[in-house]
Amino acid sequence: MSVMKRILILAQQHGNEPLGRLIYTELKKRGEQSPQIEYMVANPKAVRQKVRYTESDLNRSFNCRPRDTYEKRRAHTILQKIKMRNYALVLDFHTTNCEVGSMALVHGLNHEAMNFIGYTTITKVVDMQNDIASHSLIGSYPNSISIEVENKTISDSIIKGLADAVINFLHNKPRKSKQVKLYTVTELITKKSISIVDQKRLQNFVKFNDQYYPILVGNNSYKKQTHYLGFAANNKRGYTV
Ligand SMILES: [Zn+2]
Repeated sequence: MSVMKRILILAQQHGNEPLGRLIYTELKKRGEQSPQIEYMVANPKAVRQKVRYTESDLNRSFNCRPRDTYEKRRAHTILQKIKMRNYALVLDFHTTNCEVGSMALVHGLNHEAMNFIGYTTITKVVDMQNDIASHSLIGSYPNSISIEVENKTISDSIIKGLADAVINFLHNKPRKSKQVKLYTVTELITKKSISIVDQKRLQNFVKFNDQYYPILVGNNSYKKQTHYLGFAANNKRGYTV
């Protein structure tokens, strides 16, 4: 008898990104109302207002003091609950307008996080080793993973595929190992580091000027609100999950 795993689907850290809710709805539709699968809407206030966040980006608000925004207080509450429940894995679902297809973000190569990726069709994994991770979920709870899916690729088969992965992971279903491309991010791509002309040449996962692999660049949500355009991976290698 194996020990029962318990997982959390953390939906809508960004209020206008419905993927986590769609996957949970799919799981319920299948009658997969296992008590092992728990669900939490991360930012209900932003969901109600149909915005990304209300006062500060929730996924940049973990471990912040003073907790002077709604999202900083919310991040604290979420993290306390997660630690108390001791989840085998927290699945944090996002959507993006960046041209990235489906990708996973991790902080360090946590065994359960990498095992979950093995149940998905995801082949691009980004290990966030820059300072931003310390204020995000993945940098706050080792057994966690953020999944980003490009908006225009979201389909029934993407949702069903991720729901399958959740169920198969939960039941430790035997699977084949697979190779992914692992990118290690150590820096931001700041606006001032690159000319406007070069900004337009940045392509996700394609090495730029022999320097770095851009991650989550393009029509993204960071651009307007921050001093950076995306993330820079200085390393790419094969990794078996
Ligand atoms: Zn998001």
